Amino acid sequence: MSHQVIIVGAGIAGIAAAHTLATRGSVSDFLILEAGDYVGGRLQSVSFGGQVFEAGANWVHGTIHPETLKENPISALVRAANIRGHNSNSDDSETLVKDTATGKDVTLPAKVRGEELEAAAEQLHDKLCQQVESEEWSIRNDISVREGLKLNGWQPLSALDRTLEYFEWDFQYAEMPEITSAYHNVLEEFTEVDFGEMEFFVNDPRGFSTIVKHLCTECSLDPEKDPRLKLGRRVTEIEHTCDGVKVHALNLQSNCVEVYQAAQVVVTVSIGVLQRSSELLKFSPALPTWKTEQFTQFQMALYCKIFVAFPRAFWEQAEYLLLVTEERGQYPVWQPVPGRPILIATVTGEKARRVEQLDDSEVVAEFLPLLRAVYSDVPQPTAVHGAYFSGIETALQVADVL
Ligand SMILES: Cc1cc2nc3c(=O)[nH]c(=O)nc-3n(C[C@H](O)[C@H](O)[C@H](O)COP(=O)(O)OP(=O)(O)OC[C@H]3O[C@@H](n4cnc5c(N)ncnc54)[C@H](O)[C@@H]3O)c2cc1C
Repeated sequence: MSHQVIIVGAGIAGIAAAHTLATRGSVSDFLILEAGDYVGGRLQSVSFGGQVFEAGANWVHGTIHPETLKENPISALVRAANIRGHNSNSDDSETLVKDTATGKDVTLPAKVRGEELEAAAEQLHDKLCQQVESEEWSIRNDISVREGLKLNGWQPLSALDRTLEYFEWDFQYAEMPEITSAYHNVLEEFTEVDFGEMEFFVNDPRGFSTIVKHLCTECSLDPEKDPRLKLGRRVTEIEHTCDGVKVHALNLQSNCVEVYQAAQVVVTVSIGVLQRSSELLKFSPALPTWKTEQFTQFQMALYCKIFVAFPRAFWEQAEYLLLVTEERGQYPVWQPVPGRPILIATVTGEKARRVEQLDDSEVVAEFLPLLRAVYSDVPQPTAVHGAYFSGIETALQVADVL
């Protein structure tokens, strides 16, 4: 039996594709093939310490532009699905900064240096604006945020500077300023330009992925029993034939290969998977170079959260707690969960890659001395949950099934 369209992946992109086909194209003959056993992909919540937390996406970056009133489609979905949460803007957030070398609260000096960092970023923004307006500029002249900040008087000279910089860049983009584009992330912060600066932090017991289920309902796709959604099907090959496409998928329950046919296929797997397509997802014939060049240009960012429960809260209430550490990126950002003895740490980049390989006890052994350096009487955590949920990890999990 042949379908009109096969969609590979049931994350928000795959389900949004099905929704668009059904609602705008009147195409109801689609088939979604998903390797995992749930809908939502990197929108996934976990139960921890009696509460639901987001292991993947948590924020809507840019909700609605205050002047143009252009609304982020994710924000519109959040509204439509009645998702609970709160508006937050990290610039105005209450942030405490503590130095692990001295044990001191350095929130005030951090504010002063933070303003200098912001001034350098603003200068960089203005210069980039002027350059882009001049006719000689081309995207090929793009520079890294590191280079741009340096040219505008910012050099991270101390552990405090490095922590502030981490909070501003790595925590947001999951990448170091060395490889973050000044054009895309200083001049044209796309979500900010389109949808304004306000961010919405999702905190809903039903989980952020409720927006994906809402899309399913709108296009009459029941994620529990609709035969057009097949979970546990890992697509291994997409073959372009003269009559359309043949999609080969491994049924992870029966371990048998199934072949599905359609006129067209929409592929929504992550760039992490596409970059390893020679082992994970074969295209036959091979994709043209102009296409592979597009996705090899990107680096799959690593962004991991670690949820830690303690017998009691020993910290002051704040939106963020920053730990100044000699080693850059060593558990610097912590989010206290209001009203609960739970902290959420974030690690990114190469640190995240390393942390993903450690046991929980090894992770605790790394971060506990840092917390103990700035707070007295820090008890042993009662539970730890590492949401090692990056795209690379997804690719590895898919690879492990092979
Ligand atoms: C820890 C973390 C925090 C994040 N925080 C934010 C945030 O605060 N705000 C924000 O806007 N974004 C955030 N993101 C990014 C956001 O989660 C993603 O951009 C978004 O969820 C991607 O959706 P997608 O549908 O494109 O991909 P995915 O959600 O990755 O969906 C792709 C689907 O394809 C499936 N798949 C892969 N390979 C195969 C195969 N061979 N066969 C069949 N199925 C396959 C996967 O299992 C997956 O379900 C975060 C991401 C992570 C990991």
